[in-house]
Amino acid sequence: VSSRGCHKIRGSQIRELLDSKLNVLFDCDGVIWNGETVVAGAPEVVTLLKQQGKKVFFITNNCTRPRASYVTKFIRLGFTDVAEEEIFSSAYCSAAYLRDVAKLQGKVYVIGCQGVVKELREAGVPIVEEDTDAPTGTIYDYPLDPDVKAVLVGYDEKFDFIKLAKACCYLQNTECLFLATDPDPWHPLRGGRITPGSGSLTAAVETASSRKATVIGKPSCFMFECIASQFNLDPGQSLMVGDRLETDILFGANCGLDTMLTLTGVSTLEEAHGYKDSDDPERKDFVPDYVVETIADFIEAYEE
Ligand code: PLP
Ligand code: CA
Repeated sequence: VSSRGCHKIRGSQIRELLDSKLNVLFDCDGVIWNGETVVAGAPEVVTLLKQQGKKVFFITNNCTRPRASYVTKFIRLGFTDVAEEEIFSSAYCSAAYLRDVAKLQGKVYVIGCQGVVKELREAGVPIVEEDTDAPTGTIYDYPLDPDVKAVLVGYDEKFDFIKLAKACCYLQNTECLFLATDPDPWHPLRGGRITPGSGSLTAAVETASSRKATVIGKPSCFMFECIASQFNLDPGQSLMVGDRLETDILFGANCGLDTMLTLTGVSTLEEAHGYKDSDDPERKDFVPDYVVETIADFIEAYEE
């Protein structure tokens, strides 16, 4: 089967593809689970791939949980063989970036949630502790910490004007790093609702500061580099499976991985074909090499 063709594959074609790979990288939401509901067959697929000698990784832009909490979630949803070391979240990778790449000498001002704060603490990266007292005076009287050398923006359900104001004040210093956990614009919730993602909050900070954030999560290659540095992965022997063309499939294309779209999440086959038929060459990187209905299709691939 030739590449970047949006090829819908099943059975022996899936088997042939998997036989040619050593590593399978799964996006989580929309692939492995939808919120708190497991994708039927996903635990069996992970076990099957491991029995076949594959290395399996989970790579999520969701920064709301620390790695240990993902392990609990995998167990709760029926997975029996997922290790913390196999889970790479945008929160974990942001902490790794600040510690190992930026080698930050100073504190991080975090707009984010417990997942980000816990991963930064675990990595030993100092953060500005939130003032427990209610702010006094006007909204312009908030304290600023002179040791801040980076601003990190992630999903934050308590995002507010003061946080935005503080972030853009810190970012006036051009030496202050500006990172975003991920660029996701929104996420599906149950009942057809959506919630704004980290990308929406980052866009507000970018506008207020007239700066552009460095993105850590998919589609940036840093998450792959993070895995590759620990497990010595060859991109040519790795398959990226995701449900969102603009993050997961672009991520795979950016990192030199073969890509597979699964239709249990956000993007549709029609959207994939739309990118394939587009005249804009940049959109070609949104086109998956392969498409399956669900990763549960891997099971019959091994039965045949
Ligand atoms: N960030 C948040 C806050 C989310 O709720 C989700 C999905 O539920 C994601 C990111 C995307 O996660 P993934 O990369 O696993 O699809
Ligand atoms: Ca997803």
